[in-house]
Amino acid sequence: MNIDDLWKTALAQIEVKLDSPAQYQTWFRDTKLVEIDGKKAVIGVKNSYASDWLKKKHNILIKDTLSYVYGKDLDPTYEVIREKGQSEKQTEVVPENAPLLGVQQGMDMELRNIIKKSGINEKYSFANFVVADSNRIAHAAAMSVAEGKAKNYNPLYIHGSTGLGKTHIGQAVGRSILEKDPNKKVIYVTSEGFLNDMVRSIREGKAMDFRTKYRTVDIFIIDDIQLISKWVETQGEFFNTFNELANNNKQVVLISDRAPEYIENIEARLRSRFQGGIVVDISKPDLETRKAILLRKSTEFGIEIEEKTVDYVAEIITDNVRELEGALQKIALYSTMSEDELSLEEIARILGKDTKSKQERVKVPNVLKRVAKEYGITVKDIKGPKRTAEIAFARQIAMYILREEFNYKLERVAEFLERKDHTTVIHAVDKVRSKMLLEEGFKDQLQMIISELQNSEEI
Ligand code: ADP
Ligand code: MG
Repeated sequence: MNIDDLWKTALAQIEVKLDSPAQYQTWFRDTKLVEIDGKKAVIGVKNSYASDWLKKKHNILIKDTLSYVYGKDLDPTYEVIREKGQSEKQTEVVPENAPLLGVQQGMDMELRNIIKKSGINEKYSFANFVVADSNRIAHAAAMSVAEGKAKNYNPLYIHGSTGLGKTHIGQAVGRSILEKDPNKKVIYVTSEGFLNDMVRSIREGKAMDFRTKYRTVDIFIIDDIQLISKWVETQGEFFNTFNELANNNKQVVLISDRAPEYIENIEARLRSRFQGGIVVDISKPDLETRKAILLRKSTEFGIEIEEKTVDYVAEIITDNVRELEGALQKIALYSTMSEDELSLEEIARILGKDTKSKQERVKVPNVLKRVAKEYGITVKDIKGPKRTAEIAFARQIAMYILREEFNYKLERVAEFLERKDHTTVIHAVDKVRSKMLLEEGFKDQLQMIISELQNSEEI
């Protein structure tokens, strides 16, 4: 028996023994037996998360089954293998620890390949996108574009801070179009991918091919478009591509972490192009939505999770869906390693939420510095007694961000800003909120500051 057949036989038995289609789909379907070397059996998996999971949760099952089928004792080891032809761009888009989903079950192989070739991650679809107030308008606009109903939504410009589902929804548009008509030409690319492709094609003397490739698509989805401000050359090429597509009534989807007005250093003609279709934003999910997402993802990943854990995680992880997913995976992994049910304290520890003081040391000064910079004043001014309109306003913004974005208690916020009375914080939050409602553009400006802070948050 060759090793492919050997593995196929073992998998068939594993599937039966597992008795959980979701578990099987998620963890086993994309594995392969790479080699047998003496007693060692190397099993190839898609990512380090799958490797950890199989080792911790299913090692004995795999070892026993494989040894039985092989007829001799084998010791499995797990190795992450990258698929051939998988570009860097895709590995960047697919988080390293993303589990493989079962949702593709039964999907036509050819369609799957077409979707992958378009640069689209097959785990993103409209079907597994949770619609809520925070993304309702963006979702509706994306659906209309996918259904070809909205000719004037061109470009569709989606913005919002990190981890809120922009890439998911943008790719879902492409996928949905391909599902309806696999002959449509769809390209999803990050602005960085576009730049790299351009540079490579010029170096290899294939600039014409590059142009043809991008200018003959039916739908062009470009992610992280804000980065284009860094590359002057790409802007020109992108502008021309864009015009050509728009003139031929081809759909363009732009994804960014900020509104068009806040992308720095781009040509005016490009900015006005960005604004020329429909601009929609995705905001942070509220508590109920966070719970709904957790439940949905746990079913998708084949993870069992207690209701009280869902409630707790939704309470403590507030501003990023990617983080919610990561939390779910971590909890699942740790539950399999512990005999008893995890307590909420343990969960807090696993999720690194008990290290508040460390976060504070970095986060709070960052917020103050960033806000001070925005208004051309100093952190000292913000913390100090001065009451000029500018300084007082900056102070309120800092309070708002610390309270609403980083969820510090009122008293703590007052402390950070060296205020005695925490009611000033309540007042500040109200003031900023109403300004967001009343003043066009202010919300976006604030969002930009916040998303910069979130992006520089790693500690
Ligand atoms: P962004 O591009 O805004 O940084 P992503 O699209 O990469 O965010 O989303 C991060 C993760 O969160 C993805 O795995 C995505 O599937 C998930 N996600 C975000 N919003 C939703 C949603 N509304 N429903 C389901 N999954 C979501
Ligand atoms: Mg993204």
